[in-house]
Amino acid sequence: MVGSAEVEIDGHGKVALPGLINAHTHLSMVLFRGYADDMVLQDWLQKKIWPLEAKLNAEACYQGALLGSAEMIMSGTTTFMDMYFYMEDVAKAVKESGLRAFLSYGMIDLYDSTKAKAERKKSEEFFNFLQKLNTPRIRFAVAPHAPYTCSAETLIWAKEFAEKNDIPIHIHIAETRKEQADSQKQHGARVIEYLDKIGALSKKTVGAHCVWLTKSEVSLMAKAGASVTHCPVSNMKLASGGVAPLPEMFDAGIAVSLGTDGAASNNTLDMFETMKVCALLHKAHRWDPTVLNAQKTLDLATIDGARALGMEPEIGSIEVGKRADIILLNLNRPNMTPIYGPETVVSDIVYSAASGNVDTTIVDGNLLMQDRQLKTVDLGKTLSSAQELANKFSRG
Ligand SMILES: [Zn+2]
Repeated sequence: MVGSAEVEIDGHGKVALPGLINAHTHLSMVLFRGYADDMVLQDWLQKKIWPLEAKLNAEACYQGALLGSAEMIMSGTTTFMDMYFYMEDVAKAVKESGLRAFLSYGMIDLYDSTKAKAERKKSEEFFNFLQKLNTPRIRFAVAPHAPYTCSAETLIWAKEFAEKNDIPIHIHIAETRKEQADSQKQHGARVIEYLDKIGALSKKTVGAHCVWLTKSEVSLMAKAGASVTHCPVSNMKLASGGVAPLPEMFDAGIAVSLGTDGAASNNTLDMFETMKVCALLHKAHRWDPTVLNAQKTLDLATIDGARALGMEPEIGSIEVGKRADIILLNLNRPNMTPIYGPETVVSDIVYSAASGNVDTTIVDGNLLMQDRQLKTVDLGKTLSSAQELANKFSRG
């Protein structure tokens, strides 16, 4: 049927997919891409990342967010959930880009009640800023950085704030084994047991990583209705050890989403790469090629991601009544040929496709990229601004 659309797109030789959902990012960290690799986590943070983060300012975070937005649009991501600082400037860039996002200011109080108060105030100020920005595509998420960097007071406040305002809690959980050992020492309980005990676990919780969980912690998360964001590339690159127990999470009914994490620990925001690595990691880990099939992997990056973020009625699939967040993949490419039939297309998307096959990206019915031409971000300008910033960082 020919409708009254303003723009008609020729879909011959292309496949339409729901836009991908990247549920854990630190967008402006794309500026640190390739700066420090192959290092032990503590050295990486203390000697490289933290000193560089100290050089960031509002303008750098804005430029970083524009670069990250361009990368996401060009690799088929239409929704993401971010945690960082200078978030007003990140929001400005995301608004310009046309992407859909949950943005959060990462609160770190280091168990100091004066700092806790100041961090909560910053979070509330950013919440109010987004209310005023009044861009329905951009929503707030409350983000206590992690249980080991935030006091119980802040964790509980975040839970109450999230439930009152119907928004996600964006938090890092159990990324390393050390975190679990430290939690046992400090609280006499494993991380999820501790969150449950203090009343900070919620159906609004979206825990990034959740690598080091026992079966009973998985059950506690399921009971609370909490969700998970699995970040396989980041976990493997930082050698966090262990593998998030996805099959157990699925059995317990937990909504699992996928994320790239920041580009300093990935080094891309490419969700096609993350899908493939995710499927391969679990097959290799469980010695079972059926443990995570192509359809379920694609679900993690689309409909399950929408469920984890509480957005399932609006996004995550192409259906009448949902938001038009759609990407088109060009099948007329060597790595996508041949196609054996409709029943193999999902496998082709997860195992053969690359982000360069994304031809068109649409968010909320607006074209952000067509024929690989960005419509909302000036790519040349964005690339040279990011390179200039990197040159400045390396001059010290
Ligand atoms: Zn992270």
